Amino acid sequence: MDSCKEEESNRQKCVFVEGPIIVGAGPSGLAVSACLKESGVPSLILERSDCIASLWQQKTYDRLKLHLPKQFCELPLFGYPENFPKYPSKHQFISYLEGYARHFGIEPKFHQVVQKAEFEFGFWRVKTQECDYVSRWLIVATGENAEPVIPEIPGIERFHGPVVHTSGYRSGSGFKNQRVLVVGCGNSGMEVSLDLSRHNASPHMVVRNSVHVLPREMFGVSTFGVAMSLLKWLPLGVVDKFLLLMANFTLGNTDRLGLRRPKTGPIELKNATGKTPVLDVGALSQIKSGKIKVMEGVREITNNGARFLDGQEKEFDSIVLATGYKSNVPSWLKGSDFFTEEGMPRTPFPNNWKGENGLYTVGFTRRGLLGTATDSAKIASDIADQWIGGQITTAGVQSIAMAGEIERAKKEQRKEKGDIWGYFRRT
Ligand SMILES: Cc1cc2nc3c(=O)[nH]c(=O)nc-3n(C[C@H](O)[C@H](O)[C@H](O)COP(=O)(O)OP(=O)(O)OC[C@H]3O[C@@H](n4cnc5c(N)ncnc54)[C@H](O)[C@@H]3O)c2cc1C
Repeated sequence: MDSCKEEESNRQKCVFVEGPIIVGAGPSGLAVSACLKESGVPSLILERSDCIASLWQQKTYDRLKLHLPKQFCELPLFGYPENFPKYPSKHQFISYLEGYARHFGIEPKFHQVVQKAEFEFGFWRVKTQECDYVSRWLIVATGENAEPVIPEIPGIERFHGPVVHTSGYRSGSGFKNQRVLVVGCGNSGMEVSLDLSRHNASPHMVVRNSVHVLPREMFGVSTFGVAMSLLKWLPLGVVDKFLLLMANFTLGNTDRLGLRRPKTGPIELKNATGKTPVLDVGALSQIKSGKIKVMEGVREITNNGARFLDGQEKEFDSIVLATGYKSNVPSWLKGSDFFTEEGMPRTPFPNNWKGENGLYTVGFTRRGLLGTATDSAKIASDIADQWIGGQITTAGVQSIAMAGEIERAKKEQRKEKGDIWGYFRRT
């Protein structure tokens, strides 16, 4: 850890980090670390798991491919190998990220669960289970998908079979000939249902809300690419109308399949709520042929199945919750109102990347890896402007020492159950 100065007091280990502390070694953490390095600024990445890109390595299903063509999912300064297909598989994407980390010599510190980060006396103090890290800058890169969302469904606790979130689902091979209830109809719900159906299971996909399904490509060109190009010239409403026209032309009327379209257009909805349209990679044809059944909302889970809102009752062997993820920032970032209760920056894109007191965020744009690339470049340039030769100033060290004193005082005080200012009056 060449960017840190370690100091061990008799009470607690404290690590002074000369450059920024980055929390999270996903694509966003790697991208911002690379951009900083390119600007001559060292950084330290703290990662809770034992590898980079843990979401991709440990929480995604085997058949996953990038939803968007690779040119929209590239990290800054280092492209994909030329022989990669248009839509790299998850394994190819992981090997790209590993190559990326190697190329920039990025070595995160693993097994560091950030429990608390707080701005004190001009510095960010970031606490993991092992020690406190202190720096002038804190970059939040823990992602929009840090924790699985597990909904409360009446009766689920009495279900006889396995209940798994998509973060724990790898492949349909273990579900052969099973009746599986898939709760959720976003990209994950659709793809898991498709995977189950290809492994001869019988998936029943619960569609509670309206959903936009778009073809992944239109006449060989990615729908996302088409939308991005059109948005340069046409108003959003016109682009949305065009996308829906093309979707109806290629996929037919999805309402008839039980997949009601929202009243708001796909891009307007994405911008307003972050809800991503589903890009169809084959699930729709399985729905049309009846291999994937679409069900209305669940009223309750029973001992051996589910009762639905339309009164139907069916038996199931397993349940897969394709109910998405959420940010975990509010659980550990304290004393800052930069994030909402949902863990997203209050100021939307493109002003989402910078808070106060040296706080930055990368990967919270609701724009996937494209947003990560934009954020990383802005953050690196902003911090490079403040970088003063990589040294902590004497005043800085004094502030840190003061902060340490206060921390110790608090501890002392907790023992005595008095107030902290009392401690200073006495000493
Ligand atoms: C199934 C799926 C498919 C996707 N496909 C695409 C796609 O094709 N294109 C696209 O652009 N986007 C896609 N996305 C969105 C995708 O999540 C992001 O683009 C990308 O992974 C975001 O990277 P990130 O680094 O911001 O977050 P993450 O990849 O989630 O990385 C965050 C890291 O922070 C760590 N962390 C969290 N909390 C703490 C803590 N308290 N202490 C220490 N470490 C912590 C995590 O362990 C994790 O390693 C997909 C998402 C999913 C779930």
